[in-house]
Amino acid sequence: MTQQLQRPQDRTLPDGDLVIGGEHRASSSGETFDVFNPSTGAKLCSVAKGTAGDVDAAVRSARAAFAGWRETTPLERGRILARAGRMLAERQAEFADVECRDAGKPKRQAVVDTVVAARYFEYYSGYADKLHGRTIPLGPDFLDYTVLEPHGVCGVITPWNYPLAIACRSLVPALAVGNSVVFKPAEDAPLTGLMLVDLLHEAGLPAGVLNVVPGLGTEAGAALVEHPDVDHISFTGSVPVGQRVMAECAKHLRPLTLELGGKSPHIVFADADFDKALPVIMNSIFQHAGQTCTAGSRLLVQESVYDKWVAAAKAHAAKLVVGDASEDLDLGALINEAQQTRVAGFVDQARESGVTVETGGRRPDGLAGGWYYEPTVLSNVDPLSPIAQEEVFGPVLTVIPFRDAEHAVELANCTEYGLAAGVWSSDVDTCVRTAAQVRAGQVYVNNFGAGGGVELPTGGFGKSGFGREKGLEALLSFTSVKNVSLRLG
Ligand code: NAD
Repeated sequence: MTQQLQRPQDRTLPDGDLVIGGEHRASSSGETFDVFNPSTGAKLCSVAKGTAGDVDAAVRSARAAFAGWRETTPLERGRILARAGRMLAERQAEFADVECRDAGKPKRQAVVDTVVAARYFEYYSGYADKLHGRTIPLGPDFLDYTVLEPHGVCGVITPWNYPLAIACRSLVPALAVGNSVVFKPAEDAPLTGLMLVDLLHEAGLPAGVLNVVPGLGTEAGAALVEHPDVDHISFTGSVPVGQRVMAECAKHLRPLTLELGGKSPHIVFADADFDKALPVIMNSIFQHAGQTCTAGSRLLVQESVYDKWVAAAKAHAAKLVVGDASEDLDLGALINEAQQTRVAGFVDQARESGVTVETGGRRPDGLAGGWYYEPTVLSNVDPLSPIAQEEVFGPVLTVIPFRDAEHAVELANCTEYGLAAGVWSSDVDTCVRTAAQVRAGQVYVNNFGAGGGVELPTGGFGKSGFGREKGLEALLSFTSVKNVSLRLG
């Protein structure tokens, strides 16, 4: 028997149900978990806490729907997704408002995320009927061709930092190529993911093709990864959880995509255009209070301009205004108290070890309730110390000098991560040679995050994970190649 959740008083919020086979339902245990507004620390609503039994029901539903969805013409699949994208664009303000309250994201950043989320629909819906295979010449007696087939039932597990945009980044290509999906949004910010599932059904997605089981990672997330009838996992999140997910997938020899953390460097040569580079580099670390996987958290600067850059970064950060996301200031809050404690712990440890705190380095005064941290710039940093090696996931920038291009590349590559990198120089040879040597899945030259990035494959080296999302490559991640050889009579 299903049980009803207590509906949120605020009707702009989703009801918090699971959606399995197109039907809203409470968790089979009847349990819920609370969702908080990071800006105030106040409870927003409760959401169904999915169980292993719910995940099983969702996987069965996705399995039952798979054949029909796969056989739906690519044109029709694309049309449903295109319609959903238009609906999302029309309801941008509503989604951005919930994202702002759920993830603590300043309004304008939440709006940008919603625009990017709608772009995934625009981009991948157009690809649904253009996913061509190849013919392979074997001479006159054979016809040989390849087909890109959907995996089947995909498990999609997402983090809290860009809840809507990352959900769309994985769900839309997975659905476009004919997979059915069980989606587990992050418990810290699940609301726009739940709204998205309803929107897709309103756009005409058949029941069962997309099922959502909100819940705890250790419960619903783990059950999804452990389920024997899941064909592929797309996981975006932290390294330790990614390692657990991979170990579980190994038991089933199940393919997976891992989009994990980063410690991304900007390499700034002395001849870089200072005025153009500064705002982009600052935005890359302070956007969403540093809670971005590709945050440019290590600023590597050529020695001759190092002091100028430290002063500029300090002045820029000191002017940023932190506060409630609904006020649309420069920085909102961190996602929860544990994250605030973690960020403060990294900075305190760095300070104790002799690092210079140029600005920030503490919880701001006068912002009771929310989980804020000041924009922080650190100099005099040992590049091998924890603050320069580990993902802080907060508004903390380390500025480190380098001698020459060789030294810059050595520093850029000296962490276990390899997600993104920025290279800044007015010399083309320097840019191209440095880009070639940096170990990162995405290298931006004289920019960072071009065009919102929907079209650009993203993914990591090393502990940043493997497989690629975004761009055409995501379609390949959500398919397997089948080769068909016909001998002609
Ligand atoms: P997290 O690893 O704690 O959680 C991610 C998701 O995994 C959540 O939905 C969570 O509920 C689930 N989960 C937790 N334990 C699980 C388990 N045992 N089995 C299955 N699922 C489980 O990460 P987070 O704190 O939500 O997100 C921040 C991290 O995500 C950072 O490291 C950030 O760099 C990374 N990230 C990476 C990218 C990328 O594209 N590479 C993008 C965004 C965020």
